[in-house]
Amino acid sequence: MTPTGDGRDRLGTVVVLFDVDGTLLHGSADTHVRAFADALAAVTGHPDPFVWSDDGITCGGEPLSGRIDNEIVRMCLRSAGLADADAARQAPVMMEGTVAAYRARLAAGDRPGTAVPGVVAVLRELRDRGAVCGLLTGNARQIASAKLSACGLAPFFSLGGFGDEGSRRSELFAGALAEAGALGIDHPMLCYVGDTPLDVVAARDAGVPLVAVATGRFDRLALQHAGAATVLAGYSPAAATCDILVDRARSVAAGGQR
Ligand SMILES: [Mg+2]
Repeated sequence: MTPTGDGRDRLGTVVVLFDVDGTLLHGSADTHVRAFADALAAVTGHPDPFVWSDDGITCGGEPLSGRIDNEIVRMCLRSAGLADADAARQAPVMMEGTVAAYRARLAAGDRPGTAVPGVVAVLRELRDRGAVCGLLTGNARQIASAKLSACGLAPFFSLGGFGDEGSRRSELFAGALAEAGALGIDHPMLCYVGDTPLDVVAARDAGVPLVAVATGRFDRLALQHAGAATVLAGYSPAAATCDILVDRARSVAAGGQR
């Protein structure tokens, strides 16, 4: 392989997929979680099932960190005591209600979150190098879109895999790859950027190279313990971070370790 120094070479296009909460944005989960509670109340009449603490947010004793929206809907319906068949029937209704509640909360002034320091410079530089940026997020597609539009980051992303389009995170890569294919990127060199142990596990299960960032709730040790070989403390300096992301994407094509 003869790297050109940018995101393109004869092996294909580099596609960097980003998780959203804790990876691109800080403070973005609060409004989102409250929208789940709104939808659960509307669908079942059940009160807010979430417990907030310094260790994170739980539902029915299970942590939400790294869970995708379809999983959180199921956790909510389970906490409301619905039997499996009823929960399966109500899940799409609750997902739709969560999207509507999220939009209503943003319209009422609830906060969408703010960009993690340094990430915008990285997104700009990746774009300048010819790499394509996408999302691989537990957020439902319409919530991710509303969230990133409100934070000014939406224009950087042209494809994605979303949390209302699968039952677990590792399944979402297929959707992102299909969207890359629709853009004419048939054999992308992928790298995933995520902030939770479940992101690390999903990338491993999907066979996608990962760079973990300790920008969310989990520190370097927790991410390494989950199996991340590369953990960044943050995104600065942008050029060095982009070098790592592009090298990681090329590592599989070059025969390196995932
Ligand atoms: Mg996250």
